[in-house]
Amino acid sequence: MKGKVHGYGGKMTLGERLYLGEIFRGLGITIRHVIRNLLHTGDMPTVQYPEERRAYSPRFRGRHRLMKREDGTPRCVACMMCSTACPADCIHIVAEEHPDPAIEKAPASFEIDLLRCVYCGLCEEACPCDAIRMDTGIYDMAADSRAKFYVDKEFLLNNTTDGTR
Ligand code: SF4
Ligand code: SF4
Repeated sequence: MKGKVHGYGGKMTLGERLYLGEIFRGLGITIRHVIRNLLHTGDMPTVQYPEERRAYSPRFRGRHRLMKREDGTPRCVACMMCSTACPADCIHIVAEEHPDPAIEKAPASFEIDLLRCVYCGLCEEACPCDAIRMDTGIYDMAADSRAKFYVDKEFLLNNTTDGTR
């Protein structure tokens, strides 16, 4: 079937090459939004962030947290399943013996490099103890140095789940 081919090496019509149609279409959208905004119709898609926050799906994966046992110690048993499953290689765990002989190991350190993380959720899927979750709802992460995105065990154990820090 013969048809127009777009993309690299494809033939474009003169109108497409001039971009005029698209320019006017874009201007039309902008003008429509300006008029709606001026008339305060209240249906503008703009979210007045940070005062107003978009409602995310409960399935949204935000910043990680480590779960605690009843005594406040990490539920994690340093099995390395999460770090093995992680495609970004951004979880670093050092294991140590747990004082309770019924529990084999515990994390001496547990660090995540949040700048390398791709928020795929494979770590929480892989965890056999439900020790790591991504249900904090925290998505607005900002810092003035790269080192601050390298979060440790204490930080992860004290993350909240209500989207605040
Ligand atoms: S969400 Fe994905 S990339 Fe991020 S730490 Fe977990 S497994 Fe690694
Ligand atoms: S968070 Fe879960 S998967 Fe990762 S080391 Fe701890 S127990 Fe294993």
